Amino acid sequence: MAQVTFTTHGERMQSFKLLSGHAIPAVGLGTWKSTSPQAQHPVYSAIVEAGYRHVDTAAEYGVQEEVGLAINRAIHAGVDRKSLFVTSKLWCADLSPERVRPALEKSLRELRLDYLDLYLIHWPFHLKEGASKPPKQGDVMKFSMEGVWREMEKLVKDNLVRDIGVCNFTLKKLSKLLGLAQIMPSVCQMEMHPGWRNDKMLEACKKNGIHVTAYSPLGSQDHGRDLIHDPIVEKAARKLNKSPGQVLVRWAIQRGTSTIPKSTHLDRIKENIRVFEWEIPEEDFQALCRVPDQKRVLDGENLFVNKTDGPYKSVADVWDHED
Ligand code: NDP
Repeated sequence: MAQVTFTTHGERMQSFKLLSGHAIPAVGLGTWKSTSPQAQHPVYSAIVEAGYRHVDTAAEYGVQEEVGLAINRAIHAGVDRKSLFVTSKLWCADLSPERVRPALEKSLRELRLDYLDLYLIHWPFHLKEGASKPPKQGDVMKFSMEGVWREMEKLVKDNLVRDIGVCNFTLKKLSKLLGLAQIMPSVCQMEMHPGWRNDKMLEACKKNGIHVTAYSPLGSQDHGRDLIHDPIVEKAARKLNKSPGQVLVRWAIQRGTSTIPKSTHLDRIKENIRVFEWEIPEEDFQALCRVPDQKRVLDGENLFVNKTDGPYKSVADVWDHED
């Protein structure tokens, strides 16, 4: 269910309500590969100058200290911590029960926070510390979903995180989790954009009241798909007098997902959040839902597939042969 809130700049900003009752702002700033030579990290300007209230990061991105400093400075500049929604993620090397709490505590230290709004399992695969890319034999280990989830639940009970969730799950893994969870996952974060809609996971999450956050909403251009110059996106943008980036962010919100576009440029950061005062008309929304050549950008191949020694010998194995 969507709720309307306001930024400190007075702009109307939409949030979505989570199963826990907490609200997640519809647009957050992604921070993968967002190391910045600027003295002030883009996260600071995003919060203080553009009015973002949602920041997505992860231990694995290696930017938590910079992000933490920026958040801390924003709080000192007068932004209420309680108005911020900060997400981080548990990396694959920490996907064993005894490593969950120390990993969270390290993230909190790096982020200079005493709680997270959302803590996600980054990928549902347990990697050996220092695993190679692609993984060598023995680098991918057994993942005890139940043991790890119990520890995530304890973090909620101890008020160290307000919500817990997962990323990069399949229907099969989600169904297993729902069968064992005492605290439900509030959020499922997945790659989603017009070039990879992943309708089946969106539907499964909706059915279970789990909110979806769409990652790589612009197609993760550096690594993936240039949706900014896709003719269908460009056509909708021209018609609406908006930028292609804004159309892609707005499309995600109109699907009922929050989304976390990444940029290190303040002009784009500002542009990407100006998506609340207008709508994509149904006809163009549907055209965006029919973009051909549906394909993941982040398929996990480099991280988890070992063609000779497994246990995941192909991308299809990673995604439980559901695509
Ligand atoms: P995005 O789809 O957000 O695309 C980012 C790219 O688009 C950058 O090259 C950026 O360049 C460019 N860009 C940003 N805004 C605009 C604009 N308005 N017009 C044109 N180009 C633009 O990619 P990401 O893969 O970074 O995904 C977003 C976030 O999602 C990540 O940063 C991360 O937080 C999260 N994520 C989560 C994953 C998971 O496994 N849970 C996996 C991948 C991502 P520039 O910075 O130069 O502006």
